[in-house]
Amino acid sequence: MTPSPDPKPLQYSALQLAWLHELGIDKPWLPGDARAVPATSSGTQAEAPGKAEARLNGAAVSNPSAAPVTTTRAPTRGAASKPQQAAAPMSAVSIAAMTALTAAAAAAASDLESLTLAASACQACGLCRQRDQVVMGQGVTQPAILVIGDGPGEQDDRKGLPFMAESGALLDQMLLTIGSARTRDVYLTNLVKCRPPGNRLALREEIAACQSYLVRQLELLRPFSILALGRVVAQSLLNTDEPLQNLRGRVHQLEVAGQTIPLVASYHSGHLLNHPADKAAAWQDLQLLRTLRR
Ligand code: SF4
Repeated sequence: MTPSPDPKPLQYSALQLAWLHELGIDKPWLPGDARAVPATSSGTQAEAPGKAEARLNGAAVSNPSAAPVTTTRAPTRGAASKPQQAAAPMSAVSIAAMTALTAAAAAAASDLESLTLAASACQACGLCRQRDQVVMGQGVTQPAILVIGDGPGEQDDRKGLPFMAESGALLDQMLLTIGSARTRDVYLTNLVKCRPPGNRLALREEIAACQSYLVRQLELLRPFSILALGRVVAQSLLNTDEPLQNLRGRVHQLEVAGQTIPLVASYHSGHLLNHPADKAAAWQDLQLLRTLRR
């Protein structure tokens, strides 16, 4: 899918301008307006929208119909700023066995509700042991934007809903600045559906075990675009080890379950809480995402 040139200039209300000020952005700019793009702390500027293609683990499940509405839960951390924990020594065979377990359960789910039920009973990885609730997601079906974080946080685990803490509030503000909201045209979810203990990032094998649920969500939700939040999410979805700085600022194409979905990677809102200088780059990514809007 090719990003169209910005179809209609965004008119900022006083409220949106106030939100932008809260985000630390006093002068909104649009993609391509190089003069107005402030420098980022990482020193990276958005590249001209280019294309990159990736397949989500070669995932190819059957093609289901979209189900109506939904609800499940979310996280709150600076994924981009946290080092990934070393993967536990687990064999490829063990990971494949865990993935096979969830693949069968996810494929059998005909709608989001039954998928949530399947995940609620899932014990395919160790994250099931300390969860309070499974956090599948929240938002609308056929969303304009599917936001994917790394994993549920403590409050998400308690409430059963995603992005419930401070970073979720910041994400909501950021989405509002481009005219989107989780109650309107967005769906929020995570790579893993159970909370990693101690607010750590999910391990490689946990992400692999849980991937079938995400793939099935993509089939059922049929999102128009994806916003991948944080390094671990971007690298996992795009199957690459490239740093986030190289992945953000351009449009990738994710092939999954017979769909090709444009994907923009950016900083996790939890990271932005601790690195406000990166908000400018995140704003730039949101503007790029907005140009993809149908
Ligand atoms: S994180 Fe995913 S794979 Fe692991 S127990 Fe929870 S639902 Fe199952």
